[in-house]
Amino acid sequence: MTARIIDGKAVAQRLREEVARRVAGLSFRPGLRVIRVGDDPASGVYVRNKDRAAAAAGFDSATLHLPAGISEAALLAELAALNADPAVDGILVQLPLPPQIRPEAVIDALDPAKDVDGFHPLNAGRLASGETGGLLPCTPKGVMHLLREAGAALPGARALVLGRSRIVGRPMAQLLLAADCTVTVAHSRTRDLAAECRRAEILVAAVGRAAMVRGDWIAEDAVVIDVGITRGADGRLVGDVAFAEAVTRAGAITPVPGGVGPMTIACLLENTLQAALARRGGG
Ligand code: NAP
Repeated sequence: MTARIIDGKAVAQRLREEVARRVAGLSFRPGLRVIRVGDDPASGVYVRNKDRAAAAAGFDSATLHLPAGISEAALLAELAALNADPAVDGILVQLPLPPQIRPEAVIDALDPAKDVDGFHPLNAGRLASGETGGLLPCTPKGVMHLLREAGAALPGARALVLGRSRIVGRPMAQLLLAADCTVTVAHSRTRDLAAECRRAEILVAAVGRAAMVRGDWIAEDAVVIDVGITRGADGRLVGDVAFAEAVTRAGAITPVPGGVGPMTIACLLENTLQAALARRGGG
C-alpha cells in the first residue's frame, strides 16, 4: 500500500485565498508588524516570506529590522509602541534573538491580543486550559488543518506527539487533546520510542533530526505529520520521518518540503485576521 500524500501547499493556498477574500470584505486593512533583530540569514528568508504573503492577502504589513546590538530595553520600547498603535493588529517577533535579549521577556511584553504567534503565557495558558478559540501557535494550528483535510478520525484516536517544545510539541499535544485524541508526548528521555510510535494512529513528529522515525516504527494506516525540517548533507530539506520507508506503511503522510511548512505562514495570516476582527469587529 502507498500512503496518500497530504498536499500542504494546496491546503495552505486555499487558506490564504480564503483569508484574502475575507480581508477584501473589510473596511480596513489588518496591520501586521514583524520584528527582526540582527542579520541571521535564515530569519531574513522567513521574514521576507511572511511579509510577502501578508501583503498578497491584503494586509498592511511591514518589517521592523533592528540592529543585532540593540538592548533588551530598547527592543521592549519598540514593542510597547506597536502594542499602543491602533493600526497594528498583529505583532510577531522572529526568533532566535541575540544573546543579550531574553526571549521570555519579549514574549511576555507583547499585548496578548496582538500575539499572532500564540506564544504569550496568557494565550498558551488558555490553550492549556482547553480553550481553543484564542490565538493559537501557527505550526500546530496548521497541523490540525492538515489532519482535518486528511479526514483523520480524531476522537478517541491514539496520537503521539514527538517533541515537547513550547512552539510545536506542547501546543500540538493540547490541540489533539482538545480534539478528543488520547495523547502521548514523547521526547529525548522517552524509553523505546519505536514502540511508542508503533502504537500511534496519528503521529506528529517535531524533533529536528533527519529521518529519525523509520518506516517500521509506523503503524499500518497511521496518519503521519512531519513537522521537522533539517538540511541534509546534499543541501536538500528533510523531515524527521524516513519518507520513502514510511510511505509504504502509513495511510496518509505529509512530505517535506510541501507539508507543514506552507501551513505555518497561512495560519499566521489567519491569526492576524482573527486578531484584527477581535480588536475592531467586522469593520
Ligand atoms: P526544539 O525546541 O529543538 O524541540 C525538539 C524536541 O525534540 C524536544 O522536545 C526534544 O526533547 C525532542 N528530541 C530531541 N532529540 C530527540 C530524540 N533523539 N528522541 C526523541 N525526542 C527528541 O525544536 P522545535 O522548535 O519544536 O522544532 C522541531 C522541528 O520542527 C525542527 O526541525 C524545526 O525546524 C521544525 N519546525 C518546523 C516548522 C514548520 O513550519 N514546518 C515550524 C517550527 C519548527 P527534550 O525536550 O527532551 O529536549
